[in-house]
Amino acid sequence: MPFTSSLLPELIEATAEAIAKNAEEITLLDQAIGDGDHVTNLQRGLDALMMQRTEISQLDWPAAWQKIGMVVMSTIGGASGSLYGTLFVAMGKAASAKELNVQSFSEAFFQAVEAVKHRGKSDAGEKTMLDVLVPVAKNIQEAAASSLPLSKLLEQTKQAAIAGMESTRDMLATKGRASFLGERTKGHIDAGAMSSQLMICAVVDVLHAHLTTPPQ
Ligand code: ADP
Ligand code: MG
Repeated sequence: MPFTSSLLPELIEATAEAIAKNAEEITLLDQAIGDGDHVTNLQRGLDALMMQRTEISQLDWPAAWQKIGMVVMSTIGGASGSLYGTLFVAMGKAASAKELNVQSFSEAFFQAVEAVKHRGKSDAGEKTMLDVLVPVAKNIQEAAASSLPLSKLLEQTKQAAIAGMESTRDMLATKGRASFLGERTKGHIDAGAMSSQLMICAVVDVLHAHLTTPPQ
């Protein structure tokens, strides 16, 4: 893996910044078809991660992911807290005691998304964060299998995340709070799909920058 966990403070900062910058838009989406608390929930988790970012960056990737999952699970709350928490804890577990490379990362991420599906009793197509996570996991797996250059994999990951988010616009919500509104959910992007897209793209941008200019 060309990236070390010393990048974690930068990754956490970039993620928090992406959510802060788009807070208003995500809140409007969650107000339209949810209860409007998604950003507040997420920011509780991101604030906790910001406070612990140096400590977390001293762990190896799998241990750091597990720690992030635990922090997120105990601070975010709402439906998204346990789902984002599950994603990171499962990713850490799946990657633990393995040599980390693009292939093993893609498997760990895939398993983590499976764990989110299980936890949420949901799948892609139901207007949730899974409409971003599932295509992103699939894209990384395919890219790893075909040994796509990392810069290309990162670029495609962003495209998959954005397309996945956009795909929720015309979907009918069948899971989470939005499902109570039925047909009225059509025409709005899902808040969790938007937050996961923004966080994935923020992570990718940091990784991409380090790919072209390795840290001295
Ligand atoms: P809450 O819905 O409890 O207020 P949040 O507002 O923090 O929690 O998060 C809402 C987001 O969580 C939704 O936009 C959706 O993406 C995601 N979500 C909710 N329920 C599920 C589920 N069962 N499976 C996957 N994602 C879900
Ligand atoms: Mg909400």
